[in-house]
Amino acid sequence: MRVYVLDTTLRDGEQTPGVSLSPEEKLQIAKALDDLGVDYIEAGSAATSPGEAEGIKRIANEGLRAKILSFSRVMEKDVDLCRRCDVDGLFLVAPTSEGHIRAKLQTTPSEFLERISGVVEYAKSSGLCVDLCCEDGSRTDIDYMKRILDRVGDQIDRFTIADTVGAGSPELMAGYFQQLSRYKKLPYGVHCHDDLGLAVANTIASVKAGANTVNVTINGLGERAGNAPLEEVVSALDILYGYNTSIKTERLYKVSKLVEELTGVAVQANKALVGKNAFTHESGIHVDGLLKNTSTYEFVKPEYVGRKRVFMFGKHVGGKGLKAVMDGLGIQVNEDQFKRIFREIKSMGDRGKTITDADLLAIIDQVRGEKRKKFIEIVELRSESGNKIKPHATVVMRVGGKRTRESAEGDGPVDAAINAIMKAVGRKNIRLEEYHVDAITGGTDAGVSVQVKMRAGDKVITASGINTDIVMASVQAIVNGINYLVGG
Ligand SMILES: [Zn+2]
Repeated sequence: MRVYVLDTTLRDGEQTPGVSLSPEEKLQIAKALDDLGVDYIEAGSAATSPGEAEGIKRIANEGLRAKILSFSRVMEKDVDLCRRCDVDGLFLVAPTSEGHIRAKLQTTPSEFLERISGVVEYAKSSGLCVDLCCEDGSRTDIDYMKRILDRVGDQIDRFTIADTVGAGSPELMAGYFQQLSRYKKLPYGVHCHDDLGLAVANTIASVKAGANTVNVTINGLGERAGNAPLEEVVSALDILYGYNTSIKTERLYKVSKLVEELTGVAVQANKALVGKNAFTHESGIHVDGLLKNTSTYEFVKPEYVGRKRVFMFGKHVGGKGLKAVMDGLGIQVNEDQFKRIFREIKSMGDRGKTITDADLLAIIDQVRGEKRKKFIEIVELRSESGNKIKPHATVVMRVGGKRTRESAEGDGPVDAAINAIMKAVGRKNIRLEEYHVDAITGGTDAGVSVQVKMRAGDKVITASGINTDIVMASVQAIVNGINYLVGG
């Protein structure tokens, strides 16, 4: 059976505390969602601000395959604002619980029903499709929903129940859809929040009970604890329950990273499917099993969401895992050297250090008694930033034995320093793919650890730097990475 995906990253997701997207950023995400294959994009709320309306209008006129909706309150002036944005339809949100109607709207359920009916008629006569959503639906008397269906059921295009405060259980949500889908044949949608961590379970229970459209956000963004995450709902519906969606799951990770970058809301490391650790294996036993058969400790294949399996080093590493990684890097050592490398990794892990590729290569060099020639070395570095200057940096370096000096500007002192180094190195094929900072402890004098992932052609390497100065920690990580990328 086909399930339709309504993505609300750009509306409910944008209501995440601290998140505000520009019209350009919204368009970029909308295009990515369209490529991903979502059926509906709730692009924002036209009544919020002129800038928001402009953003929605641009998305609506982009010629995307997905249908574009705007959030609307039960008000004719909201409908007008949405229509001016050229959207296909409304996500018309009507508070339906007794508490919301009396406290928030200060009216009665009967009077409000009149208003709903009037606005639905107005919207339909404007040529808009209407997805009528019961706000606080999970605390709404089902008889009131039936009254709404009696009144406007033949006019609306879909009837959605929102578990707005995350108060629903799978059984409660399923109960609504079982009863309503028997009461009136109509497309039903479900919109769940994650206040008790049940958004995915509630969404799936609703689909099994008769809902055919799921409201979701990328990375589970949304107010408070967030909405049901698109990646989890779609993958579970597909893998465990055999429902079809039009989502190209192998694009999920890319879209997750884009949304993480543009919203600035970091995805937790242990988040299902898209978290940093979701396909990372450290423990020796697990790696051993995986090398025999990947299904032993991996139920979902990393390729399913467009990712690769990662083996991590630390105190849990096993001999076979280490051997596999070294084989992958084309490194051969004798048995005694292998034992010493293995011991050194365990001991670094015991000291709580994350071991990057550059660390591993340094250990191997040390055990083999080899001194790697450094391709680049920093002689002097200055970087400056402030409220009245454009951040800039000057670096004096030895590159391949030759002394060179370069300056560059950047978005901040770190960016400027890295730009200056990259200019001095002068190799256009070297790219910084990931940059990650951790403060080691609390205060402003705390040490910071910077981890980078760099690429030169097919060769990828991770490296790190630790310093109390964030610019220097970043520079160390980059220099380390470049030396191992270029040095062989
Ligand atoms: Zn919501």
